[in-house]
Amino acid sequence: MTAWIGVDVGGTSVKLGAVTPDGERLGERRFDIEPGWTARDVFERMAREVAALATAPPHAIGIGLPGLLNRERGRVENSPNLPWLTDVDVRGLASAACGIPAAGIRLENDANVAALGEIWLGGAAGARNALVVTLGTGIGGGLILDGRLFLGEGLAGEIGHVTVAPDGPPCGCGSHGCLETLASASAATRRARELGLPAESPGNLERLAANARAADGPERALLTSIGRDLGHGLGNVVCLLDVRTFVFGGGFAAALDTLESGIRSGLAEWAYGNRVAAVRLERATLGASAGWIGAARLLAP
Ligand SMILES: [Zn+2]
Repeated sequence: MTAWIGVDVGGTSVKLGAVTPDGERLGERRFDIEPGWTARDVFERMAREVAALATAPPHAIGIGLPGLLNRERGRVENSPNLPWLTDVDVRGLASAACGIPAAGIRLENDANVAALGEIWLGGAAGARNALVVTLGTGIGGGLILDGRLFLGEGLAGEIGHVTVAPDGPPCGCGSHGCLETLASASAATRRARELGLPAESPGNLERLAANARAADGPERALLTSIGRDLGHGLGNVVCLLDVRTFVFGGGFAAALDTLESGIRSGLAEWAYGNRVAAVRLERATLGASAGWIGAARLLAP
């Protein structure tokens, strides 16, 4: 039976699995990256895990990685949080370790493979066009158009850096009022603190959301306001691309029910046309498996 093998390289561990082209998951494995390991150590261990997973030696594997990729050269040029992965010839190392020709090693950014996974078998299943939005410390995005990952010249889908408030807070990217300065998990924590609400850490966002569900108080007003900012960012996406499916992952996505009414008002304000009523707001459903599943999907013809 044909199986696609996908690998998701993370900060402290690597997950991998096999899935049929029909979406049936055949197996899943993970291993920790030990301190001091080099890239060669990681990919040699990966090769052993791939061999243990596959029923027959694979001709190709898909790999999702954090960092800035040079897709033509098969290298990670920079991985801010993973020094061992910076300036590494991933295609060469993985090819040698697995005994697979270099052309069979398919690489993609980790946020993009997670988006591919969600549109294939997760929260966006069945949609042809979707934006997968990760609400974490920042806001990440993976854009799927016509069923395929859309990269533009390489950096498409960065919804976190769409401006929604020109006079808003400064952003790490050098601009002001980017969506992630207003609606990421860290922004929500900061905004709660500014209002004198208890939210010392992103974990307390759960309490914020619980209070917003329970009563029409300041927590509900704040989450509606954050939702509205999100809706404005998504409204730009709707205007430009007519994407109508948005899937939310990351820690803050657990509060989607409390953000939804705000998101819908923001969308109605910034995206014209009665299509706004047809916009789907979904939660990501694959959790930590989204990355390897989407990496496997890179092997689809
Ligand atoms: Zn920015």
